[in-house]
Amino acid sequence: MVHADYKEMLPIHALAALDAQDDRVLTEHLASCADCRLELDEWQKVSASLAMTVVLQEPSKEVRARILSSISKSERANVVPLIPQKNVWSSLGSFGVIAAGIVFVALMISVLALWNENRNNQRRLAELATQIKTTQEQLAQQQKLIRQFTAPDAHMTELMPTTSAPGAKAMIAYDKTGHAMLIARGLPAAPAGKAYQLWYIVGTTPMPGKVFKMDEAGNGLVEDQMPTEAMKSATFAITMEDANGAAKPTGGILLHSAF
Ligand SMILES: [Zn+2]
Repeated sequence: MVHADYKEMLPIHALAALDAQDDRVLTEHLASCADCRLELDEWQKVSASLAMTVVLQEPSKEVRARILSSISKSERANVVPLIPQKNVWSSLGSFGVIAAGIVFVALMISVLALWNENRNNQRRLAELATQIKTTQEQLAQQQKLIRQFTAPDAHMTELMPTTSAPGAKAMIAYDKTGHAMLIARGLPAAPAGKAYQLWYIVGTTPMPGKVFKMDEAGNGLVEDQMPTEAMKSATFAITMEDANGAAKPTGGILLHSAF
């Protein structure tokens, strides 16, 4: 959310009409934005004076009766066109001002309600858009994976777990251009700052591949371009490294293909 969004929320906050979530978000922003704090001060003054005005000028029974009778008179005036029409509010005098104040407050409340509803709808819409995007990305990735694993020239190699990763499994598929995709399951989510890394071991030299993390569904997926040296013969291995990846493996081997 940008500064302008918060600014828009200030008057609503001053009237204590923000919903709980917006209120929390705004309160966090206020802690770090002197500009908004200053403006909120102004709005709170306005809000306080508005509340005072409404309370002090709440019409008594008599006033209410006079307003209503004036309005019904003016309605009659509308029915009988021979009587010259007067402006309703000016004929009501100061009572009209009070009535206008009440109408204004009622209008404000309905505007606030609409504003809140609109914000909630926008938020829901943004959530849905994000969900759709994620689903589309997952679908695209799965289709790519299927193509890779079912291509006529696909080489497939299974990686088996060492005792450091019991229950884990991985499969790598690569084509003659060296485009490789690896899918892993059964590995725990890597701790913060760590990730799993793919290695191509050529002879005794480990060549670094890409890093990957396990997703919420427990799948680890990585797409990589194999080094040319690894294409004739290589052992594939997975270790846990820094999230940025390492040039040489530092963690123990968790999974590997046949040596
Ligand atoms: Zn601000």
